[in-house]
Amino acid sequence: MLLGAIADDLTGATDLALMLSREGMRTIQTIGVPKTDLDLSDVDAVVVALKSRTNPAAEAVAMSLEALSFLQTAGAKQFLFKYCSTFDSSPAGNIGPVTEALMQALHTDLTIVCPAFPANGRTIYKGHLFVGDQLLSDSPMRNHPLTPMTDSSLVRLMAGQSQLKVGLVTRETVGQGATAVAEAFDAARSKGEEALVVDALTDADLRVIGEAAGGLTLITGGSGIALGLPANFRRTGLLHPAGDQVAFAAPSGRSMILAGSCSEATRGQIRTAIDAGVPTLKLDPIVIAEGRFPVEDALSWALNQSARAPLIYSSAEPDEVKAAQSALGRERAGSLIEHFLAEIALGLRAAGVNRLIVAGGETSGAVVGALAPDALFIGPEIDPGVPWTLTLGQTEPMALALKSGNFGAPDFFLKAWDILP
Ligand code: ADP
Repeated sequence: MLLGAIADDLTGATDLALMLSREGMRTIQTIGVPKTDLDLSDVDAVVVALKSRTNPAAEAVAMSLEALSFLQTAGAKQFLFKYCSTFDSSPAGNIGPVTEALMQALHTDLTIVCPAFPANGRTIYKGHLFVGDQLLSDSPMRNHPLTPMTDSSLVRLMAGQSQLKVGLVTRETVGQGATAVAEAFDAARSKGEEALVVDALTDADLRVIGEAAGGLTLITGGSGIALGLPANFRRTGLLHPAGDQVAFAAPSGRSMILAGSCSEATRGQIRTAIDAGVPTLKLDPIVIAEGRFPVEDALSWALNQSARAPLIYSSAEPDEVKAAQSALGRERAGSLIEHFLAEIALGLRAAGVNRLIVAGGETSGAVVGALAPDALFIGPEIDPGVPWTLTLGQTEPMALALKSGNFGAPDFFLKAWDILP
């Protein structure tokens, strides 16, 4: 195990795990700190997904330290604290306090702060974070319900959230290459600076910074900062050559698709599947709420299909969703469907279905919560941002693809199966 990462939310953890996997690291993502022993002998990177972004700072610190201690025991040689590329936090934290606590626990005197993610328009210049063409503080993030960002100076934000002495490495230095950046780290260290905001405008900048950060015990940033890290391990012979990855050992067995997302993209994917002859069962939240369609009925429908991968969905057009919400309440309609689909997933697993696509972010959260794997091994990417994963833990492995609503091409539900071995 080479790289141990702590992510402050689930989708951010997946982002990072995918980034590392694309760069050739065999990566697993754990859901919280795993309760059982995992075999990490074939693993290069572990990303622990926490849900600590908006918790009280002391709680986030405690969760992060527990994750750190798991990663240390697992043998990680370098650590990464991953947060959102829009630096989602409040004056009380949690990015500052968690960084500070991790530095203390690791006995390290210098780290970097680099949430840049140029592919998504997040860049840093003179220490200011931009979202597209706007300063963070002018972007829609200023009105975020939980973490409104009204300052774009990462130096000020970091200094405000921690006791750390914060410095800046500007784009001019980054433009001079990894040696110049590493020298800037040394110079800052000798001035007593502890957390360095580093400018980055492009992926090439992130690779330069990653190379310069090879010697740092702790790195903090968005998933972009991971771009340059695998190459460091490869250069020192610790990581196998790129392309030399273990095969994705998907179990062979029955396949199913569950969709609870009502996004336009998912509805289009369902239409494409229906047009291609995929058998489908549409769930009606009101009928379910009235107890007229139990989970068993959905399961027996699913298990009686002979097609490759039948589809059960609750996805509906906006007016149908509104009707269900006004009959049941928004929250209740949502959680009823999530719970129902999660129960179906459990029933399917018990009946031997071991390849499953789930559409919808919250829906995926509910299904993964019910299946409760200790970790997900990141496999091949079906469409940008959506990999096949393999569940690890006490139960038989399952191939799972968790698709957030808006992701994926129209033929996602058809082609996803073709890339499984
Ligand atoms: P997305 O990733 O597209 O946002 P999510 O799964 O995160 O999808 O959110 C969809 C929400 O809508 C879930 O809470 C789900 O239970 C709920 N939902 C699904 N189908 C219906 C429906 N027919 N009526 C009302 N709510 C629904």
